[in-house]
Amino acid sequence: MPSAKLLILYTGGTIGMGHEIPGDSNSPLIPQGWEFLQKAMPALSLDGFFTKEKGIEFTYKSFDHVIDSSEFNPNHWAEILETLSKNYISYDGFIIIHGTDTMAYTASALSFALQKLGKPVVLTGSQLPIFHPRTDAISNLSNAIHIAAANVFNLPVIAEVLICFNDKLLRGNRSTKSSSKDFSGFESPSFPELGSLEQSIQIRDKYILNIPTEPFCVLPNFETNIIIITLFPGFNPEILSRLANDKQLKGVILRTFGSGNAPSSEIFINAIQLLMDKGKTILNISQCQEGFVNMKAYKTGNNLYKCGVISGADMTLEAATAKMMWLLGNEKNISLLLGENLRGELSTI
Ligand code: ASP
Repeated sequence: MPSAKLLILYTGGTIGMGHEIPGDSNSPLIPQGWEFLQKAMPALSLDGFFTKEKGIEFTYKSFDHVIDSSEFNPNHWAEILETLSKNYISYDGFIIIHGTDTMAYTASALSFALQKLGKPVVLTGSQLPIFHPRTDAISNLSNAIHIAAANVFNLPVIAEVLICFNDKLLRGNRSTKSSSKDFSGFESPSFPELGSLEQSIQIRDKYILNIPTEPFCVLPNFETNIIIITLFPGFNPEILSRLANDKQLKGVILRTFGSGNAPSSEIFINAIQLLMDKGKTILNISQCQEGFVNMKAYKTGNNLYKCGVISGADMTLEAATAKMMWLLGNEKNISLLLGENLRGELSTI
């Protein structure tokens, strides 16, 4: 019988939350320790289904301070990356239990920082805490275990950072949180789902990345001096000119209209040019959920292209943000790599 060793890292999130005042359902939810979560899922115990029936060996680790994922920053990504790096050789797969609010950002960040990843790293969480009688936590966690211990369940090993949530398996850096109330909390607007976990589990092999042969390593640095600007009719370009003088600022993500379009007024284009002249990297992504930036389609987009703005193609906001932070943090060839497909995060025409 095939067996597997899985490492589960608990970082926090609704899945393991309880009410601040026990018994008072009107008090806010706050993260609880790992024991709280484990107690509510007997299938994880030593004589539970996964270990007794399937031979899966679990190791549990937890952040010292488990958090609501709205508190996440690159130090938390570094903590996850350190755990993965130290334990990489000893395990067949990894599960990161994470709040849903910033799960897609963390999944994107990990996808870039984990170089030549050869094993599944599966993020999951839930919309209702595990103690709730209608919780989605148990099925989400159980599904994540099936994907992380793929060989035990006769499934293909997916060597990617994934989000497994509400019976869907998504590429992490293609995912976005689409609902704060539906059990179906995540979508992959511009890339097919990698699998579905209904009564039977279907993996869409043709979409999964090849398993690399080169050695695994981690590049964990992220630059935080970037900004995201969403354009709107009436946007004041002077704000961009003022930003150009911020010496710390390294990069700007411009959320443009439609297929990457922006106002063509002289004052707007001059502001973009000034940012470029001051050495800021500018990445163009669309405000459309299923947008694809093509700065050659319209004159209003072409102006940006001529200034040297880089096309983010169909990247999600989360992937674009993590990618820019990571490339700037590791002093990679930013302008060349930002618009290239590094980990399946964008489509090329
Ligand atoms: N605020 C929570 C978090 O992201 C929401 C959740 O987990 O669903 O940690």
